[in-house]
Amino acid sequence: MADTLEVVAAIDVGGTRVKAALVDRSFGQVARLTCPTPPDIAQRVGAVAADVVSELLDGVPGGGVRPMLVGCGVVVPGLVDERRGVGRLSVNLGWRDLPVAESVGAALGVPTVAGHDVRAGLLAEARLGAARGAPDVVFVPVGTGIAGALMLDGRLVAAGGWAGELGHVVADPRGPRCGCGGRGCLEAISSAAAVEREYASGSGQRVSAEVVAARAADGDPLAGAVWARAVDALARAIATTVSITGVELVLIGGGLAESGDMLLAPLRRAVDDLLTFQRRPRLERAALGDRAGCLGAACLAWEAL
Ligand SMILES: [Zn+2]
Repeated sequence: MADTLEVVAAIDVGGTRVKAALVDRSFGQVARLTCPTPPDIAQRVGAVAADVVSELLDGVPGGGVRPMLVGCGVVVPGLVDERRGVGRLSVNLGWRDLPVAESVGAALGVPTVAGHDVRAGLLAEARLGAARGAPDVVFVPVGTGIAGALMLDGRLVAAGGWAGELGHVVADPRGPRCGCGGRGCLEAISSAAAVEREYASGSGQRVSAEVVAARAADGDPLAGAVWARAVDALARAIATTVSITGVELVLIGGGLAESGDMLLAPLRRAVDDLLTFQRRPRLERAALGDRAGCLGAACLAWEAL
């Protein structure tokens, strides 16, 4: 008879994709998959989770250890009340007050916890990635949007789900309109989508933010101006965060972190120029890439058992 291996199901429900894995106690991923997010997930989050888990279990090669599901962690975007396991609001996925933990737990028949994708991503970076050993960290994924998660004194700051909306800090009161209804939010200036939009409006060319960064480095004046504005706004928001929280580490994640030193080098200089007496934070790239949320779901599940 094959030996059994206790695993948790880790599920990261994104706006477009679901990333999932079976994760053992030492954070080995026994099986993993990515699939499109079903458009009606708000109506059947439990059934979707059950399908994903059964596909994961089917994908475990035979002949080795047999996985035994002992728990589940699900992370979702938007406003999330971790304490109740409820997705308060996701505009993209179309839910309000969705009992994620209860629905998924009932469908799987194992203890289930729900969390916020970005806070869980920071938890994973703290346990397994670039934030190990750092109790005071801000994690800033910069992609289509901009998010934020805070860990202070080794504890995630949730504030009932309301904490961390760094993307909606006003970076320029006369700046462009933001999707939230505000004006000049950081996200409307420094996200990949904003950089692409701004460059396209000046050049007529629709290229990725990474290409804008590369053109800026090659001396394209329009790309240089767009990139400099994005970096400057991000630096101001980070410097403000450092002043308020005293974080010692700023982790940049998301799609734009893939630009590496084209983003990090000018951002470090700009943050450094803005700070005076404050503790100088290290500014590093996150380590876990687009698996951070899923691994964070596994951390939540194991820590709850
Ligand atoms: Zn906004």
